[in-house]
Amino acid sequence: MEEVIIIGSGCAGWTAAIYLARAKLSPLLVTGSEPGGLLTTTTLVENYPGFPLGIQGTELMEAMRKQAERFGTRVKYLSVVTDFQCDGKIKRVKIDDEWLETKAVVIAVGARPRKLSVPGESELETKGVSYCATCDGALPVFRNQPLVVVGGGDSACEEALYLTRFASVVYLVHRRDVLRASSIMAERVLNEPKIKVIWNSVIEKVLDPKQDRVTAVVLRNVKEETTSLLECRGLFVAIGHVPNTQIFEGKIELDEKKLIKTTEGTRTSVAGVFACGDCVDGVYRQAVTAAGMGCMAAIDAERYLREKSI
Ligand code: NAP
Repeated sequence: MEEVIIIGSGCAGWTAAIYLARAKLSPLLVTGSEPGGLLTTTTLVENYPGFPLGIQGTELMEAMRKQAERFGTRVKYLSVVTDFQCDGKIKRVKIDDEWLETKAVVIAVGARPRKLSVPGESELETKGVSYCATCDGALPVFRNQPLVVVGGGDSACEEALYLTRFASVVYLVHRRDVLRASSIMAERVLNEPKIKVIWNSVIEKVLDPKQDRVTAVVLRNVKEETTSLLECRGLFVAIGHVPNTQIFEGKIELDEKKLIKTTEGTRTSVAGVFACGDCVDGVYRQAVTAAGMGCMAAIDAERYLREKSI
C-alpha cells in the first residue's frame, strides 16, 4: 500500500514530490510518456523567479527531478497511468498493466496541444505538421524554408520567434486582428523582420497528403470571406491546450472544459484525491503557478493523511 501516488512529472508533479518526500511520505511519482511535461518543449524560460538570465525548460525540469529524488521520491519512469478507481477509501491506480493501492493521489497530468481539426492535419503530422517548434524546428526539412505558425498567444509568438533561426520566412496566422500574447512577446514578434503576421485568417486545409509532405496551407480570411493558398514546408500549431483528464471522466468532477474541479485549495470531488497544475488551471497556466499548486496539493495531501487514519 502506497501512502501517496503522484501522477505527472511537470512543474506541479515534481513540486508536489519535493514537498511530500520532505514530509517523509516516500511518494511514488509516475512520469507519463513525456517526462518533464510541457516545459521540456520550450526553450529559455525567462519568467521563472530565481533565474535572472533565464533557464532552459529541460534544465529546470531536470533540477526539479533531482531535488525530488534527493529527498526520497520513487519514480516510475515512462510509465503511464491507464486506469483509476477512487470509489473507496483506498484508491487504486493502474500503472501500465499493474494495479497499485494508495491512500492518497495527487493528479498533475497537465495538458496536451489542441489540434486544428482540419483536413490534412492528422495525415501530415510528423510530415511537416508539428505541435512543438522547439522539438522539431531544427529538423533539416525546415531549413531555409517558409514556415507557418498558427495562433495568437504567447506560445505561438514564442514558436514563431524560435523558428526565425531556421526558416526563410515565418508566417504567423491569427484568426483576429490583435494578438492575445503578452505585450513583450507581441512586440518582439511585430518587430521581427523575418515574421509576417497574417491577420483575421484561419487555416482551412493542409496540403498535400497525396505527396506525403506539407506543401501549402489553404487560408480563409474571416473578414473578407476570401481564400488563398500559402506555400510552406511546415505548419506549427500553437492554439492552446486541452487537459489530459480522460481517464478521470466519470470518476472525479470535471468542468465543461474537462479541467478538474477543485475546492478548498486542491481538493477534488473525491476525498483523498488532489489535483494541481494545467489539468486544473485554465487561466494562469505558468510554470511558477503550476509549481505553487503542486506545493498546495502536497500540503493538502499530507494533512489529509495525517488527519484521517486510513
Ligand atoms: P492561449 O493563450 O490560450 O492562446 C491560444 C491562441 O490560439 C489564441 O490566440 C487563440 O485565438 C488561438 N486559437 C485557439 N483555438 C483556435 C483555433 N481553433 N483556430 C485558430 N486559432 C485558435 O494559449 P498559449 O499561447 O498556449 O498560452 C497558454 C498560457 O501559457 C498563457 O497563459 C500564456 O501566457 C502562457 N505562456 C507563457 C509563455 C511566456 O511567458 N513566455 C510562453 C507560452 C505560454 P484568440 O486569441 O482569438 O482566442
